[in-house]
Amino acid sequence: MLIDQQLVRGEGAAETIVNPATGETLCDVPEASPEQVQRAISAASRAWDAWSQTTPAERGRLLLKLADVVEAHADAFATLESLNCGKPLAPVRNEELPAIVDCLRYFAGAARCLNAPVAGEYAAGYTSMIRRDAIGVIGAIVPWNYPLMMAVWKLAPALAAGNTLVLKPSEQTPLSALLFGTLAAEVLPKGVLNIVCGRGASVGQQLIDHPHVRMVALTGDLSTGRKVLQAAAGSLKRTHMELGGKAPVLVFDDADLKAVVEGIRVAGYYNAGQDCTAACRIYAGPKIYEKLVADLSSAIASLKMGVPQEADVELGPLISSRQRERVASFVERAQMQGHMEVTAGGKLRRGPGFFYEPTVIAGARQEDEIVQREVFGPVVSVTRFTDTEQAVNWANDSDYGLASSVWTQDVGRALSVARRLQYGCTWVNAHGLFVNEMPHGGTKSSGYGKDMSVLSLEDYTVARHVMVKL
Ligand code: NAD
Repeated sequence: MLIDQQLVRGEGAAETIVNPATGETLCDVPEASPEQVQRAISAASRAWDAWSQTTPAERGRLLLKLADVVEAHADAFATLESLNCGKPLAPVRNEELPAIVDCLRYFAGAARCLNAPVAGEYAAGYTSMIRRDAIGVIGAIVPWNYPLMMAVWKLAPALAAGNTLVLKPSEQTPLSALLFGTLAAEVLPKGVLNIVCGRGASVGQQLIDHPHVRMVALTGDLSTGRKVLQAAAGSLKRTHMELGGKAPVLVFDDADLKAVVEGIRVAGYYNAGQDCTAACRIYAGPKIYEKLVADLSSAIASLKMGVPQEADVELGPLISSRQRERVASFVERAQMQGHMEVTAGGKLRRGPGFFYEPTVIAGARQEDEIVQREVFGPVVSVTRFTDTEQAVNWANDSDYGLASSVWTQDVGRALSVARRLQYGCTWVNAHGLFVNEMPHGGTKSSGYGKDMSVLSLEDYTVARHVMVKL
């Protein structure tokens, strides 16, 4: 782990790190002891004053260096993510790693461009100005599905804005964060970034409870979000929540069916569907429904599932045996209802590893569990709607509010439906594309923090009024 620029071994209980493609142990990673977490928080507190007084240009220069070292080690990072999460190697190397490097570079520049209203005289004889200042020590808690990307989405804007950090990767997937720590120790000043491993209930909890941690930024499940908010209430901490999703995909009768099928084939099953924006809840118009179900079911049958490090593999395993059981039980319960049909997949693959076949469930109804709850696996449901009103109402009838998409050739309909969808993001004739210049974050129970874009820099700063008597 990285504590106060020292690379140290955890002194707490060991966590077994598993390769989900084989079920074999990769290594043991001991978690941080309470004393080590305390040391990490103290180091970040000590480092904050000097770091927050550096200029944006100085911080930007170090983020650019970090980007360069991550880029130089991209193969190693991709290999670790692939082994630890079961991600197909080619997409993680060629898509995730470049996006992570770009995120560091984006915030290196964006930190120099924060705007606030102009200074002015709003009381005679006084000049007022708004400052955007760093918050202090940020506790960043990230999940297992995109371990390094989620860490960088938090640490890049937080550091760029002048905060210091204690980062806790998921106990299941700490390896890429540990490599990042060894590289960052060579680039960043002492104590600015600290990385501690361990479980949520022990190490995560300590970050939330500690009075010197001024804000907790979480990407995780809704239930974890609730726990973090309850715990943070004790010390009245700022929180930044990026929680789950259940993305509706509205396919109108005039949509380009081939593009829809190609789009869902990727966005519904990328990362084995373990993606908070996965295109998993399809609403199809009455005329396009049958053909969409048939074409999608045959298209996903061609997804190549297998050993993630082999060329051309598109679908890896789920993260754990427990996650696979959870996914399988959703599909079993859907089948037991009687009115739904599994038109593709619906089975786990025998043999080593935690593989589950890419699955389509047709005939789902709005009130069905498979439509309402986040499965977090390679399972897509399809529901037939009768008109636009119903489609929009059903899409919005969800606790989640992270991502959505609309597929139609009618630009007026696309824009009017996009306006009404209560989601942090709506793609039109696309699904699942991200750029570092644009925000990612939810509405409703999906949370309220923004990752990426200048809006996340605002989240990691506090607006302050300074008034000067002339
Ligand atoms: P999780 O909520 O189980 O764990 C996320 C992190 O929180 C882990 O580091 C975990 O150790 C920690 N944690 C758990 N309980 C805690 C507690 N009581 N106190 C402090 N920390 C605690 O989530 P996961 O299973 O790792 O990831 C999957 C979830 O993340 C899904 O719901 C998914 O939708 C969500 N997710 C959201 C986004 C987004 O941008 N909105 C992105 C990726 C994943």
